[in-house]
Amino acid sequence: MNVYDSERMAELMDTEGYEQTDDMSDADMVVLNTCHIREKAAEKVYSELGRVRKNKEKRSGQGKDTIIAVAGCVAQAEGEEIIRRAPIVDLVVGPQSYQNLPKLLNEFKTSKKPVIETEFPEEDKFGKLPGITASSPCSFVTVQEGCDKFCTFCVVPYTRGGEFSRGAKQIIDDANRLVEQGVRELTLLGQNVNAYHGEGLNGKDWSLARLLDELSKIDGIERLRYTTSHPRDMEDDLIELHRDNPKVMPYLHLPFQSGSDKILKDMNRRHTRDFYIELVDRIRDAQPELALSTDIIVGFPGETDKDFQDTMDLVETIGYASAYSFKYSPRPGTPAAEIEEQIAEDVMKERLAILQKRLSGQQKFFNESKVGSQMTVLLEKIGKKEGQLIGRSPYLQSVHIETDHAKIGDMVDVTIKSATSTSLQAVINSSS
Ligand code: SAH
Ligand code: SF4
Repeated sequence: MNVYDSERMAELMDTEGYEQTDDMSDADMVVLNTCHIREKAAEKVYSELGRVRKNKEKRSGQGKDTIIAVAGCVAQAEGEEIIRRAPIVDLVVGPQSYQNLPKLLNEFKTSKKPVIETEFPEEDKFGKLPGITASSPCSFVTVQEGCDKFCTFCVVPYTRGGEFSRGAKQIIDDANRLVEQGVRELTLLGQNVNAYHGEGLNGKDWSLARLLDELSKIDGIERLRYTTSHPRDMEDDLIELHRDNPKVMPYLHLPFQSGSDKILKDMNRRHTRDFYIELVDRIRDAQPELALSTDIIVGFPGETDKDFQDTMDLVETIGYASAYSFKYSPRPGTPAAEIEEQIAEDVMKERLAILQKRLSGQQKFFNESKVGSQMTVLLEKIGKKEGQLIGRSPYLQSVHIETDHAKIGDMVDVTIKSATSTSLQAVINSSS
């Protein structure tokens, strides 16, 4: 979602006469779009600001001004504290106010004092943004933001605010605009994307399944994905769509966080381990091809060896095609950070290493299971080697292909020749 937001900010500044550059020494304005989900991500901002300061000083020596903005969830969570720790920052803008970046920039230019905007304004952020532009044949579209679930470890409800769904009309307009620019695959984004309940074209609330189904009718959209889903919001219509709509890809990111019922309860996840297992069974019944991915936290306060073993067992029971796993990171203001029984760093480290080894083995196994099979790949970008293009399989695997005729944006039928734990190598079928 931060990648998506950064692109929208770049488009917005484009309307103000700015252009994107890859070279910071060229930039009249630097915007750091930041993440607050774990401490490591948040701390990166300050080390990055050190680099930005050096660049600003160098440019200043050449008689050039540099405006520095911090956007995103660190901006939201820390507000003025950012200016205190890094006085070179001119603008602090939260994730629900970046549509006002040009206005805030003008305020700064007039007042010459730091401007901080961390309100959750009662306005349609998306309605105030310029038309979306595509940067690849695969594009993101945010359909839902924020969260009302308040898992005890998580900052999202505080930094992104309450749950909000965009209206279907706006989303369909974005999709049509993207298709005109050559986009063939859409990934719908939301912190809890399957809690989507935006206003439909008929004035009634639509579910995510209904929205996906409508988007699949757009000529030119070949593939649909969505992320991130919460187990509690995995409704029947969405499960059935995986069975009935071939444009909905056989891939699902479904975080479970912990395999222990006690920890799940303390996390306020509002589902049990059995609920998750039965849910996955139902989804796999509907779409046996489905590749599953997940998020897991180790070392949540109070996690015993037995709780961790429950997590390992659940990983074994389900079998994942890919997964993201993290050490628990106490976040200021969240209830879990107040729990006394925090887990020692070395214990977390050890558990994470054991877990990641197993997950990487499962990913390798899943990738290897595709060797010899045929599938369609949407070519997305240029690879490192001469003549190499990289695309995605229906299961979101990265597929490397050497070709002298196919181009980015093509959908090619391939045969998988070999696999590693992170990617597949394939050749294009001769009829493709
Ligand atoms: N809404 C999604 C997750 C969004 S946050 C869900 O409920 O599943 C993305 C991931 O970051 C989470 O799934 C979780 O695994 C991880 N995460 C969030 N807060 C964390 C924390 N305090 N420490 C470690 N990992 C965290
Ligand atoms: Fe955070 Fe997801 Fe829980 Fe919401 S449901 S509080 S985004 S982990």
